[in-house]
Amino acid sequence: MENSYEALSLILDSITEHLVVIDDNGIIQYTNKSWSEFGNSNACAISGDWRGVNYIEECDKASVMGDDFGTKAKKGILSVIKNKVPFFYFEYPCHSLDQKRWFTMRVTALKMAERDYFVISHQNITERKLAEEEVRNLARLDGLTDIPNRRTFDEFLHNEWRRCLRLNKPICLAILDLDHFKLLNDLYGHQIGDECLMQIGQLLKEFVSRPGDICARYGGEEFALIWSDTPLEQAERLSNELLSNIIALGIPNEGSPTENYLTASIGLAMSVPTEGSNERELIGLADSMLYRAKKSGRNKIERCRDRAQ
Ligand code: GH3
Ligand code: MG
Ligand code: MG
Repeated sequence: MENSYEALSLILDSITEHLVVIDDNGIIQYTNKSWSEFGNSNACAISGDWRGVNYIEECDKASVMGDDFGTKAKKGILSVIKNKVPFFYFEYPCHSLDQKRWFTMRVTALKMAERDYFVISHQNITERKLAEEEVRNLARLDGLTDIPNRRTFDEFLHNEWRRCLRLNKPICLAILDLDHFKLLNDLYGHQIGDECLMQIGQLLKEFVSRPGDICARYGGEEFALIWSDTPLEQAERLSNELLSNIIALGIPNEGSPTENYLTASIGLAMSVPTEGSNERELIGLADSMLYRAKKSGRNKIERCRDRAQ
């Protein structure tokens, strides 16, 4: 291949990374085509020729506009210029109005004709980030019902407990267990049982709307709901509505001694977190209420407040 400046420049223009070379004062000496195109398509203040612009000052301007990227980028570039680190790398979000996007920034030193230069490259890593987000979501959700799993639920309850402690607000927990679900499986088969669990999962989603609420598959045919900053009476109304909606699904359970359709029982408990208490006590209370609902006939709610109330 021809060994010329033109050939090299064509090569650098062909790569998708956005490349910029600055001197030790931050003044831009070179940009490749991807750099300029990105600037143009993102309505940057500078379009066309970037040479002579001070990159570090541009970072400052971005910081003033409240952009976290500007502060971090400047700090990283300066630490390479001052030879504190051999290179600098970080990942940052750069979402446009209609698209989620992430980029990496890499800064490396370059010595040329006895002078110090620094190569800054930006690479679009949106595809990788979206795949990571997907994996994280999958790990948070229950595979069958597509609602949060037990682990997500435990974390959520722990955080909400602390939040309600700070705010001195009540938190309600409902544990819902399907009645005689084993008999439904035995009569209609495991696959039909699975479909019921999916239907229940979809239904539960309609009962959580605020950021402090969650529904989850707690295990097997047990589900749990948290309603934060919610008084017991309101949680009881929601629980009643939920049991009615389960009945309204009209899922046959001919073998059940309770009703010949699918029903559920709920143990509901409310607590106002106090210093030194923890969420396990709330789970214990809801569990004992569920036990009581099962013992006293199923297809019903049993509820209680913590002892302090
Ligand atoms: P109770 O009213 O006392 O709760 O009776 P139950 O039959 O619902 O309770 P039990 O604990 O005896 O049985 C739970 C059943 O739930 C047994 C199990 O096969 C079924 N189950 C648990 N997980 C799944 C699942 O993922 N899919 C299906 N189809 N069934 C499940
Ligand atoms: Mg159960
Ligand atoms: Mg059950």
